[in-house]
Amino acid sequence: MQPRDLSDHVAYQAGRGIEEVARELGRDPAEFIKLASNENPHGPSPAAVEAIRETASSVNSYPKAAHADLTEVIAEDWGVDDSQVWLANGGDGAIDYLHRATLEFDDEILVPEPGFAYYGMSARFHHGDISTYALERTDDFEQTAEPVLEAYDGERVVYLTSPHNPTGSTIDLEEIERVAEETGDDTLVVVDEAYGEFADVESALALIEGNDGYDARDDVATLRTFSKAYGLAGVRLGYAIVPEEWGDAYARVNTPFAASELACRAGLAAFDDGEHVDRTVETTLESRESMRENVEAHVWPSEGNFVLIAVGDASAVAEEMQERGVIVRDCTSFGLPGCIRITCGTESETERAVETLNRVIEEFGLPDGAQTGDTSDTNASEVSDT
Ligand SMILES: *Cc1c(COP(=O)(O)O)cnc(C)c1O
Repeated sequence: MQPRDLSDHVAYQAGRGIEEVARELGRDPAEFIKLASNENPHGPSPAAVEAIRETASSVNSYPKAAHADLTEVIAEDWGVDDSQVWLANGGDGAIDYLHRATLEFDDEILVPEPGFAYYGMSARFHHGDISTYALERTDDFEQTAEPVLEAYDGERVVYLTSPHNPTGSTIDLEEIERVAEETGDDTLVVVDEAYGEFADVESALALIEGNDGYDARDDVATLRTFSKAYGLAGVRLGYAIVPEEWGDAYARVNTPFAASELACRAGLAAFDDGEHVDRTVETTLESRESMRENVEAHVWPSEGNFVLIAVGDASAVAEEMQERGVIVRDCTSFGLPGCIRITCGTESETERAVETLNRVIEEFGLPDGAQTGDTSDTNASEVSDT
């Protein structure tokens, strides 16, 4: 027998790992740095490492107390009820839960193009369909309510990614409010804030709770993860915050013990280690600035822990950078041919990435039109070719 018809389904293309690349090229993993998956360059919080070590001997038990404790700590931090925090196996798991709670057979979701692949993948698993709205390169991927509402046709869930992966753009709360206001009563607006910690913008939680002069709404949810700023991508931990009215749906849709004992204990420790997050954000802002200033190609402004860069033949540039030990993300699979995405690394990683990219660009040359924006006066000849 066969699985059901999966011809519409596509496999997720993760950023490539150091081990994988080194093995393929027959080289020493120590020669490589990976700036392809928006991971934390400082690693996990030392407190989380300790918590995982301490928890190791009790993983024979189901994670009941830890799950409840983490939910409570997060709820308290955001000022919401425990029932509004939907812990999950990564932010991706939270997307699944939102779809389980919303999508009926053949319901649709509306997602940005270019955008994060998992929204659509998850909708398909839940027998839903996908339509898209465009973020335009000619508008520097600016996000407003207008194109979303123009594309909107009664979809059950609308995704806004702020900061947006892979472009780094954000959308104002007034615009999010307008999307929620002008879409149907049965449409949930999910604001994916996976990179929220790095951004100088307010969380859409204000729209759920009715803070800061906004009316409280029952049709907006936010999404957060421990994978990026908290450095816990490997334990898989994330959550959605939903309106109070949605609280009791979680118990009906979640996979029992949605987050593991190790994940919950690590999450509790990481959440408590504000210093680690602050340091991570500080490093990110410096790296972002440095790449914007020093890369000899167009780098879009970004509020995430990565930047998007116009390089022309992105596959060739990414491959050549990898050959030289710097693994970056070719954005073709995001629907952005011609661009690469580089994660903000430590100071030395960032320097190496910038130098490597500038050399590759100089050797390859940028095709006409690759340099949009204000970079026409940059002078690539300053970079020596060794
Ligand atoms: C990384 C990311 C997520 C969540 O990732 P998890 O590792 O599953 O928590 C969600 N949305 C976007 C846009 C992301 O980049």
